[in-house]
Parts: sequence; structure tokens; C-alpha cells
Amino acid sequence: MSNLTNALALALDDSSRSVVWDGRWYTAGDLRKHITTLRAELASAGVRAGQRVMGAVPNSYAFVVSYLACLEHGAIFVPANSEMPAGELERALARYQAHCAILAPEAAGRWSDSLQAHGFSRTRSVDMDAAGGQAVQLWQTSDAAPYHVAADAPDERPAVLMFTSGTTGEPKGVLLRHGHLWAAVQNVIESHRLTPSDVAYCILPLFHINGQVIVLLSTLVSGGRIVMRDKFHASLFWDDIRDHGVTWVSCVPTILSIVAKRPAPKEALGTLRFLRSASAPLTPAVAARIEAAFGVPVIEAYGMTEAAGQICTNPIPPGVRKPGSVGKPVGVALVIVDEHRQPLPPYELGEIAIRGAGVIDHYEGREPEPDYGYGPGWIYTGDLGYMDEDGYVYITGRAKEMINRAGEKLSPREIEDVLNAHEAVARSAVVGLPDPLYGERVVAWVVPEEPEGIDADALRAELASFCAEHLAKPKWPAQIVIARSLPVNATGKVQKHVLRNLEPRDRL
Ligand code: ATP
Ligand code: MG
Repeated sequence: MSNLTNALALALDDSSRSVVWDGRWYTAGDLRKHITTLRAELASAGVRAGQRVMGAVPNSYAFVVSYLACLEHGAIFVPANSEMPAGELERALARYQAHCAILAPEAAGRWSDSLQAHGFSRTRSVDMDAAGGQAVQLWQTSDAAPYHVAADAPDERPAVLMFTSGTTGEPKGVLLRHGHLWAAVQNVIESHRLTPSDVAYCILPLFHINGQVIVLLSTLVSGGRIVMRDKFHASLFWDDIRDHGVTWVSCVPTILSIVAKRPAPKEALGTLRFLRSASAPLTPAVAARIEAAFGVPVIEAYGMTEAAGQICTNPIPPGVRKPGSVGKPVGVALVIVDEHRQPLPPYELGEIAIRGAGVIDHYEGREPEPDYGYGPGWIYTGDLGYMDEDGYVYITGRAKEMINRAGEKLSPREIEDVLNAHEAVARSAVVGLPDPLYGERVVAWVVPEEPEGIDADALRAELASFCAEHLAKPKWPAQIVIARSLPVNATGKVQKHVLRNLEPRDRL
């Protein structure tokens, strides 16, 4: 019976095979050696199977070693953003309840006071590169609550404790077991037809599910190679693809809208099979611009932490991609349900519910949902959408972000789609703000394509008449705010709860 552990061992079987590029190529042999070293350090730090290890290491070879060492060791890896400020770390540490932390030296330096206040002390350092560029520090605490689990079947072993992006509120804890990761990885490999000749370009944060499962684990298991960057750098994007023969890139829409405007060297396009977009809505015009300019297919997919990665994807060619759709469910059962959680027919708008081997059935510290008459194990995503007669799914927004104007429910996504279609608009975000007359009013935040020297009043007037042409009256923004940027989280998603608390005035 195959499982994640066996598949990873098999993938790292040939010691001489290059696996990760991070300034230089590291081989499967390097990886195995460093995983063994780090496991020994974890063991001598007293870390046992079922204990939580916080990992705050930026995208790097050292992250890959830290992550795989924890998986092999049976510890629960709790990924953390190594760039978070100390104030956020304080809240995170209370949630994580980790026994041990694997930290990038830079993060450890910045956080040392907060770590010590939580009972952590530095115990040892491990360097995974003779040149000294891949060091991590182990910090330990005796304060953490014990968290032991019975040694279950391989698929039942806890692997990663993730927290959702916190786009709609406080992040929720998602405990992914080996079986969840294994199912998700198989879905990605199959739907994107990943093979050992693939080279993935890793620019999304590895502390989130997209980077971790779609890019890292799926590539490792399929026997491919990964070119690693600490993050997305617009100026390196096409050159890296050309220099390392990259075949696919997992992106978020913000990255694609930047990439769409940068010229690509011809040689970069020779190897590139597709660009993937997920995590937030992709504007069809951006995808169309990229496909026309570079001839590279843009594959929109839909995923979430709770599904260990991917829920739906458009197929890679020659399969049919439908613009505006996130594609069909892959390895996940999906239904659209009404407010009573009853399944709806095609084209009817409702909430997306999912179930599958990769999908958790409850959040940490919460009970599973009851059975609404079509079996247990479903989770309700909070995403709204519909399915067409071919089974393609269209996301229209999030339940929590719907605007209630005088009892009429308005979809911010529909208004954003109209604004984004205007040539002067780079990005937009629509929120509902309290209104004494209507309950909520529509407020649109707009980032212009060319913010330099912009006439904000003229743009506002132009967009107001554009909306009047394309939207029914209740959906017209009561206010249009022109801004240089929008508050986004690490996965590039606009944080609407932050936006709702900002004074709605121009920020140019
Ligand atoms: P939180 O649950 O804490 O509010 P989050 O839902 O943003 O945060 P993630 O699990 O990282 O946390 O993101 C999953 C969500 O991202 C999905 O539920 C969906 O709303 C959104 N999403 C993912 N892919 C797409 C897509 N292609 N189009 C639109 N939305 C998407
Ligand atoms: Mg969510």
C-alpha cells in the first residue's frame, strides 16, 4: 500500500538526482543526509512523534529539510511566517502550542524576547550547507501543553497543523494528516500531469498550503525538480524560467497581473507548459493578456487549506479551459447547497460544500458538521458559487463578504469584475460599510493602472458612469476610493476585514 512516507522515500532514492535549486542544486543525497541530521537533533531535543514543531524558515532549501524531517519524525509541523512582527508572533505562539521551534537565524534574532517570554530557549544550531547559507536554530520550551497521539495507521498520522489565511477573520486551525496530504498530492499530480521531467518554480510562501502541497510535495513525489526563490521577484521571473528550464509556476492573480506586463525572453517560453492561478479570483482579462502575449496557458484552480490544497482545476490543454471558472472538482466531491444545506441543481447559486480523502471534516477544537441528509464528513467552505451543466464551478464570492443593502444581497465580486474590466483599473475591492438608511452601502476601493499624477475626481466620475452602464442601480458604489495599494495577506488576498476598518478616503 503506498502512502506519503513511502512515496517520498522512493522519490529520494537516487542520491545523485538534483532536486532543489536554491543558489545551487541540492541532490536527493544532500536532502536525505540533512534530514537525518536534523531528525537526530530533534530527537536529542526530546521531540517525539505527535509533538508540535513550529517551523519559521523562509522559502529555502533549509525549509524543505525542516519540513521533511518533521514529517519523517512523526512530529506535527506548524508552519509560520518568519517575517511576522513580534506582536503577531505572541498571538501565534499561544495558538501553536509548540514544543520546539525550527527558526531561521534572522527570525530568531528578531523574536528572541517574545520567545523567551513564552519559555523558549535556544538549544542548538544546524547548518545544512558548508557555505553557511542554510542554517536553522532549534528552540525548545517546557511550557507547551503535551500533545500525544497514538501511533495509528500511516494515513492517520498527523502531519501539519495549518492555520487558514485569516482573510475573513481569525485564522482557523486545520490539522492535516498524512492521508490528507497524500490524497491532495495525487490529485495535483494527476490533474497537472506532473512527471519527473517537470521543473516547478517556487515563489509562493511555503508556510501556506499552495506552496507547500501544490508546489513542494507534489513536485517531490512526482520526481520533478524545484527552483526556489524566497519570494516573487518580478525582475527575476522570466530569467529564472529560462535559466532553469522551468515547466510550470503556481501563481496568485496579483503575480500574474504583474507578469502580464513584463516582456518574456523567447527562450523562457520554450519549456513553460502552464502558469497556474489560485488563492483569489483571477480577472479573465489578465489570463487572456498572458495567453495572447506569451502563448502560455493560464490554468485557474481553486483550493483551500481545509482541502490540503486543490479542490477544482481547469484542465491543462488539450482539455477545455473555461474563462471565469475555477474548473472541475478533482478527487473531491463537491455540491452547491442552499441556506438549508440542501443540494441545488446546475446554475443555482449557493454555498460550496466539499468532502474527500484530502478534506478535513472539522476544525481543530470544533465539532464536525451534522449530517444534512447526504452523509457525514462534508465541510461548508463559506464560498459562494454555482456549477454549469458540464460540472465546471464558478465562484461568485464569499458568504461573509456579501453586502446587505436594504435587505438585498449584493456580491462584491460582481462589482469588482466590472471595475476590473475598466482599462484604468489595476485592482479593486468592494466592501459593505454601515449605512444609516440602507443598513450597508457599497464602497469600492480602486487601485489605478497608472497612479502617478492621476486625477482622482475624473477617474471616480468615469468609473461611476462605467458602473451605471454595467450594473443595476443598487450595485453602484456609493463611494469610490482611489488608492495606491490594497491591504493583502501573504497569499496575496485582499483583507476585507482590514479594509472595512479603514477610513474610506483616497490614499495616493
Ligand atoms: P480564512 O478561512 O481564514 O478566512 P482563507 O479562506 O483566505 O482564510 P485559505 O485556505 O488560504 O484561507 O484560502 C482558501 C480560500 O481562497 C477559498 O475558500 C476561496 O475563498 C479562495 N480562493 C482560492 N482559490 C480561488 C479562486 N480561484 N477564485 C476565487 N477564490 C479562490
Ligand atoms: Mg477559508
